[in-house]
Amino acid sequence: MFVISLKQTIIVENFTAMKKPYFWVTKAIFITIILLLCTSWGFFAHKEINKMAVFTLPQPLMGFYKKYIDFITQQAVNPDKRRYAVAGEAPKHYMDIEFYSDSILLKRPTWQEATNLYPEDSMQAHGILPWNLIRLTYTLTDAFKREDAKAVLKISADMGHYVGDLHVPLHTTKNYNGQLTGQHGIHGLWESRLPELFSGSYNYYSGSAEYITDVRKYIWDGLTESRECVDSVLFIEKELQGKFTEDKIFSYEDRNGQTLRIYSYAFSEAYHKSLNNMVEKRMKAAIKMTGDLWYTAWVNAGKPTMTETGQPVFSEEELTETEQLKHTAPIDCSH
Ligand SMILES: [Zn+2]
Repeated sequence: MFVISLKQTIIVENFTAMKKPYFWVTKAIFITIILLLCTSWGFFAHKEINKMAVFTLPQPLMGFYKKYIDFITQQAVNPDKRRYAVAGEAPKHYMDIEFYSDSILLKRPTWQEATNLYPEDSMQAHGILPWNLIRLTYTLTDAFKREDAKAVLKISADMGHYVGDLHVPLHTTKNYNGQLTGQHGIHGLWESRLPELFSGSYNYYSGSAEYITDVRKYIWDGLTESRECVDSVLFIEKELQGKFTEDKIFSYEDRNGQTLRIYSYAFSEAYHKSLNNMVEKRMKAAIKMTGDLWYTAWVNAGKPTMTETGQPVFSEEELTETEQLKHTAPIDCSH
């Protein structure tokens, strides 16, 4: 599915002046569009990460995941849909490292240690991405031990999503949308517009999944790498802004009767080039980590032969669990 994913760039003309029946229909469409716009990595990249991770796995595990590859791919975006309706979901997607200070990347406290250092409500406000991902790895091991195929698939899909978020530099800073530096919209530009435009030339091959002996270290390492990219992500875009006039930075497209202001192809291309393959590298690393963590959880569970397991049956309700969630999306974007 192609999704336009630039935040804060919608122009809805005469929105409030519409007559009542049209007003509510239009409002519903508007909210839906906002939901689609306010996603991490964009729906496209999240789905790619989950799908490609399946191909890093060894047999017989790959055989199991491949059977449900459509499910794993489609469900990659569920955590983003849940975040607007499920309490406690949003903080799992990011970490404002400024709140914790960069020293946390060296200290790498456990959840228990962290809750002794910071008030838990502040942690929930500023993001708990790495701790949630570490916890999920153990949850996946338990699901494998029970040979609960349905739980394995759901947890695996969620994990791929959070691993994806961990690899987006702007998910590690409170300046997540350039709002503090006059770069509003950069979040969607980096993680959605660029992969949608240029991923056709990406090489996703990242080798075979490997067993990770220290999951905690591995996840914190990934977060640290993302954090190290933040300055470049912001600085390069800022510099390019100075080289383009405003009318060359943005262009307008008509989608579903709405006029959208989006970053122009020329600006996006220049930014993508200046980033020196950063988006491709982060996507590739996310694919590798997703495969590694699925594989590690399976090994730690004693390599169960999931082929013996009955087919997991997902209800219509489960497969489309977010239909009603769409209507709860706030207008404001977060990271
Ligand atoms: Zn997310």
